[in-house]
Amino acid sequence: MMEKIMMKTPLVEMDGDEMTRILWKMIKDELILPFVDLKTEYYDLGLEYREKTNDQVTIDSAEATKKYGVAVKCATITPNAARMTEYNLSKMWKSPNGTIRAILDGTVFRAPIIVKGIEPMVKNWKKPITIARHAYGDVYKASEMKIPGAGKVELVYTAEDGSEQRELVHTFQSAGVVQGQHNLEPSIESFARCCFNYALDTKQDIWFATKDTISKKYDHTFKDIFQEIFDQEYAERFKEAGITYFYTLIDDAVARVIRSEGGYIWACKNYDGDVMSDMVATAFGSLAMMTSVLVSPDGNYEYEAAHGTVQRHYYQYLEGKKTSTNPVATIFAWSGAFRKRGELDGLADLVRYADCLEAATIKTIEEGTMTGDLASISTLENVKKVDSETFIAAIRENLTEMLA
Ligand code: NAP
Ligand code: MG
Repeated sequence: MMEKIMMKTPLVEMDGDEMTRILWKMIKDELILPFVDLKTEYYDLGLEYREKTNDQVTIDSAEATKKYGVAVKCATITPNAARMTEYNLSKMWKSPNGTIRAILDGTVFRAPIIVKGIEPMVKNWKKPITIARHAYGDVYKASEMKIPGAGKVELVYTAEDGSEQRELVHTFQSAGVVQGQHNLEPSIESFARCCFNYALDTKQDIWFATKDTISKKYDHTFKDIFQEIFDQEYAERFKEAGITYFYTLIDDAVARVIRSEGGYIWACKNYDGDVMSDMVATAFGSLAMMTSVLVSPDGNYEYEAAHGTVQRHYYQYLEGKKTSTNPVATIFAWSGAFRKRGELDGLADLVRYADCLEAATIKTIEEGTMTGDLASISTLENVKKVDSETFIAAIRENLTEMLA
């Protein structure tokens, strides 16, 4: 029996819903508790307990993340009308991720996990491309109007002293549509700092792109803030780390990304990040192989999988069937959190455990043992499609060997 790896500061553990909640427990029982003297502060973000606490548990878990610095989160249900009935909810609770993001004020970084046998659709992509998505404002906080017919639309800013500034949007001759977007300098500044910190953290170049040639005030402000913060606070440190910051137009960026071999961070405005992260995830092979971490400007980290609670598999599980649900992104949420905790607390063994957990997972897939979603796209010859339990047991075997 090997000695368990010790922890110092607890992780904030945010449990979740449906199939991912089942995987969560399997991962803890098989891949964590036998090896690590696990310390967590546990928050149950499962929908039943959110209902019971009037969603206070979500707020508490975000506050705990501010206190301890590192959290790991299971996928959770964002209620819609169907869930209201299914869970007999008193209110359509907000998305937990939205609540947590609002409290931590961060940027979301998404990166694919690359394994042999799952080939990117873009053949020159060799290394992961990380998307950094600004998570505030623009079209997600816009006001819109349908214009019924001829007339004038203006933007009006009324300062606190009552003075006004006006800008003509359009003089309509016919019916049409109009939209007003906004963003905030503090939010753009914290987006920039999150991106630069993450680039230093992961030793990768960072690209940022907007449409500043067309949007001379709105997008140009993003570009200027990034450049100013980079020059004043990061240029020296980037040089020392041997990495670069590079700004270009969004159309140029898209062309370069496709031709690149990967291995950098692509910072995107809110909408670009939403769309491009789905494109990048799909082109790399599978949503179940996408990691996601929320980084706050004051250095708090919340790790999770990019996919949801895999509802369809859960209903099969409830019927007593063994499902072949992919736990990789959830395993990497844990390993990411352990590595960060280990780095912050100076625990080399915990960092090594995180590295081994990831390596054991990748080795298992590359040896040909994998869940159905991967088996159906793998180019390996000896593919064995297994259920989640068998897959996790195979990872445990590899992990035990690596840690010995
Ligand atoms: P989903 O859970 O990501 O699943 C969509 C489909 O993708 C699944 O039906 C499955 O396809 C495939 N898939 C996703 N993850 C997989 C995995 N780990 N292994 C194998 N296949 C996987 O998205 P959804 O069905 O749209 O949403 C379900 C619930 O998740 C919703 O209540 C939503 O609110 C919530 N959600 C939460 C988060 C979050 O907490 N971060 C994010 C998104 C959605 P097949 O059925 O074809 O096998
Ligand atoms: Mg999207």
